Amino acid sequence: MGIYGSNVFNDAVMKERLPKATYKALRKTIEEGLSLDPAVADVVASVMKDWAIEKGATHFTHWFQPMTGITAEKHDAFISPTGDGKAIMEFSGKELIKGEPDASSFPSGGLRATFEARGYTAWDCTSPAFVKDDSLCIPTAFCSYTGEALDKKTPLLRSMEAISKQALRVLRALGNTSTKKVITTVGPEQEYFIVDKKLYDQRKDLIYTGRTLFGAKPPKGQELEDHYFGSIKERISAYMKEIDEELWKLGVSAKTKHNEVAPAQHELAPIFTTTNIATDHNQLTMEVMKKVALRHDLVCLLHEKPFAGINGSGKHNNWSMGTDDGMNLLDPGHTPHDNQQFLLFLCAVIKAVDEYADFLRVSAANPGNDHRLGANEAPPAIISIFLGEQLQDILEQIEKGGATSSKTGGLMDIGVITLPALPKDATDRNRTSPFAFTGNKFEFRMCPSSGSIAEPNYVLNTIVAEILDEVADRLEKAQDVEAEVSAILTEYVAKHKKVVFNGNGYSDEWVVEAEKRGLPNIKTTVEAIKALIAEKNLAVMEKHAVLSRVEMESRYEISLENYIKTINIEALTMLEMAKREILPAVIKFATGLATSINAIKATGVAADLTAQTELLTEVSALTASLKKNITVLEEAVEKAANAHGDTYEQAALFRFDVFEKMGVLREVADTLETLVEKDVWPMPTYGDLLFNV
Ligand code: ADP
Ligand code: MG
Repeated sequence: MGIYGSNVFNDAVMKERLPKATYKALRKTIEEGLSLDPAVADVVASVMKDWAIEKGATHFTHWFQPMTGITAEKHDAFISPTGDGKAIMEFSGKELIKGEPDASSFPSGGLRATFEARGYTAWDCTSPAFVKDDSLCIPTAFCSYTGEALDKKTPLLRSMEAISKQALRVLRALGNTSTKKVITTVGPEQEYFIVDKKLYDQRKDLIYTGRTLFGAKPPKGQELEDHYFGSIKERISAYMKEIDEELWKLGVSAKTKHNEVAPAQHELAPIFTTTNIATDHNQLTMEVMKKVALRHDLVCLLHEKPFAGINGSGKHNNWSMGTDDGMNLLDPGHTPHDNQQFLLFLCAVIKAVDEYADFLRVSAANPGNDHRLGANEAPPAIISIFLGEQLQDILEQIEKGGATSSKTGGLMDIGVITLPALPKDATDRNRTSPFAFTGNKFEFRMCPSSGSIAEPNYVLNTIVAEILDEVADRLEKAQDVEAEVSAILTEYVAKHKKVVFNGNGYSDEWVVEAEKRGLPNIKTTVEAIKALIAEKNLAVMEKHAVLSRVEMESRYEISLENYIKTINIEALTMLEMAKREILPAVIKFATGLATSINAIKATGVAADLTAQTELLTEVSALTASLKKNITVLEEAVEKAANAHGDTYEQAALFRFDVFEKMGVLREVADTLETLVEKDVWPMPTYGDLLFNV
């Protein structure tokens, strides 16, 4: 594997190239979170520059993640004129550590008045620099002149410190003296669709919004389930191979790839790493997936719901906690019932998820995800935890006074003598749960495919830190630690078992049951966004210094604005397509029918014209309805777009008025598509898009 990490300024490169003392100082900063000595930065910068130039880099860029959800980069050449008409390649420690991109064009949610539109990027030495497209990319955090976070990385880094601090306190109270740091880890499974570029180019909706706004159901969808894990087609296979190679060069450990349930849908999963690096890597993955697709005349769609009626895409955020000395804190071991440490961390997660369900929900909310969550596919909008039979049984024992045994999976008999008896996992799989325990980690399945995983992870890290803080307080005060652990477990299980649900999360009964249990069921992004300014959520972020109230409020504004803009663009795109493509096409078709009817009549032949006449009548009626609904939508968009004042009210107008009317217009157009001659229809159909590659 010569190419793996070949474009990354990773630990091996640093060890080889940096002077010993510099390397040691840098490692200390990375591992212990100490601040960096400027003299060290100068040495690192110079070595990094030489290495990058050898890799073909001519420029460097501070690479950051503003609130747009995608990465930003501003490239500067290494070149520095020397005064004698020549130039040398320069890169100082100052340039490595700090950048000053103009911040005025990034969303700030009112955090930064335009007169101080200055933004700063600060080197995050815990995520390795890399060379991409002839530029040395330096992962950075992005903040305002006054130090407020304007990005997704800053709160993530802060949350990792918060959870490490609290988890360490718990470990110490349990008698652990060796662990120095607790690290949260993530392996995000990324789903995506692939369509042919030639077809994509003929669809304004895909181009402007990433999803189809029109499209009748094709005769074949995903019902045969013949795509899931099916053999991968050659064109896709060549594409996937190239993605792997590109990602490996960047040190992203892309590992599993397979076809997904829907036609044209696929998945890529990396080996897990720290929540910070995994977040950077997932951004890189999405970027590489899109870029490489174009080289194959394909387009990679990362939207959560590119096609109505076909499964959408998500991102499964596999999250766990580990120690610097190699312990997975969520690993139950063989006898979880007597693993107090595991049970304590497990119950802390359960309590955190129950108490902050609304906060987790919003961390996975975006306009695209509204088409999935609670829409009878993917997880429902209700947050619940799947634990599986073994842990469920242990929780029940705890509640009754103490756990004394662990059920085992036993052996599975396949019923054929020549096949081996397979050991059964103690936890089965449950694909309908939004938050499932899967062996030694939790899989948060609600996350949107196109979104950054920073939010879900900084929310998770912080809310779990908060409960661990509470646990640590109690253990530190306790006379008898073991008794206190039991007391905490019993109390947490009794109070929070309501969030545990092992059944089918897609069933209607669950919706009713969840309501009885008092679990929130927040169906839309707009409603979910309120959680960003809920007092308990503001308080927990402030207490652990992850996001201040002002920073949270700005995120609330940004999220609402993003929602408004997204739906506005979708509605305008829809109107343009309806008016300039679909309406003319159906009129042309009707005219053709009328002409044909007249032509037949003119021959004087006593032909039966019922078919043509009925079709013309039907198409004309639908055309009138199309025109009427265009006007209705236009008026709704106009009203919502001009509703200045409260951002929440405006977003609600877009959701509950504009968005609903888009659905009505779509239905009329989709019916027309099924009636009108194929050659007249102005855009590739679902069948074309889904089954062509
Ligand atoms: P499935 O599709 O069955 O959910 P995959 O094997 O596709 O499972 O994905 C599992 C993901 O979980 C991988 O990305 C893997 O790196 C990640 N993972 C495994 N162990 C951990 C851990 N301790 N912490 C975080 N992520 C993990
Ligand atoms: Mg999964």
